[in-house]
Amino acid sequence: MDASGRRKSIAGIIALGVGLISILIVLYIGWILLNWRTGILLFLGVLLVLMISSGILLNTIFLVREIRRNEQHDAFINAVTHELKTPVASIRLYLETLQTRPVEEAKRKEFYKIMLEDSDRLLNTIEQVLRTGRAGSSSHRLNPSRIDLDEVVRSSVERVRNLHRVPVDGLRYVPCGPVTVWGDLDEVRAAITNLIDNAVKYSSAQVNVTVETEKLNERFVVMRVKDQGPGIPKSELKRVFRRFYRVPGPLASRVKGTGLGLYIVRSVAKRHGGRAWAESEGPGHGSTFALQLPIAK
Ligand code: ADP
Repeated sequence: MDASGRRKSIAGIIALGVGLISILIVLYIGWILLNWRTGILLFLGVLLVLMISSGILLNTIFLVREIRRNEQHDAFINAVTHELKTPVASIRLYLETLQTRPVEEAKRKEFYKIMLEDSDRLLNTIEQVLRTGRAGSSSHRLNPSRIDLDEVVRSSVERVRNLHRVPVDGLRYVPCGPVTVWGDLDEVRAAITNLIDNAVKYSSAQVNVTVETEKLNERFVVMRVKDQGPGIPKSELKRVFRRFYRVPGPLASRVKGTGLGLYIVRSVAKRHGGRAWAESEGPGHGSTFALQLPIAK
């Protein structure tokens, strides 16, 4: 079923639910008027109507949720298939070229570089999918240690700079000084890299991103990633952290992704007793993503 078909079926289910509840209320009022003298019957009737109405309401909510979830699954499968197929197809093409005809040295070096970048992209997608599985499972334990936050942020900034070939003044880092965080190094690094990577990925050709850290108090430190990119509508600021969720519109088709990055960021924050949130004055005004983590005692 396509998106408009689904939307119609959601609207149909909501209309059915509201219609049934309205009929029940009308019947109920008529019934009260007819039987207002018989107290116990009246009480039982009220109970029955309340039970049936809440049943219909719960059923409607459940159905709508299921349809939404299905829709997001479809979008996710499409996105992941694309993210897996594209780099493999590209690597194959370069290998075929290298195998079938002589290629001069400089070109060959360029092909190897592109193939390496494609395999990085492939690994990154696989890593995100595996991490999402771990984030959702309660049996996966954290492996906490004392982490030098400055070192982790610095290396993530460097990684994103190289990956997207960002000039030094396009991605700046302003540390608040040495801070030691108590957490799982692998998870914290993944969350920090996801936020910086998004800020650069969603900015247009002109990247202008600032990463800064600030000690909130004795217990928490916050890392903020500010960009001058497309911004996010206020109504979407919470939704972007949902699993598989991507803000609909031209941005989602221009910039490829799976909708897993921010879900991982939020799960990592929660598992560490911290939190993650987004701020934006709306489309065209850039966005700020914040990750709050506990300071090691
Ligand atoms: P992905 O980037 O793979 O789509 P994420 O979970 O990282 O998944 O992001 C979810 C959605 O949030 C994105 O599809 C995008 O619409 C929005 N988003 C995330 N970061 C930014 C940003 N810095 N600026 C604007 N929109 C963003």
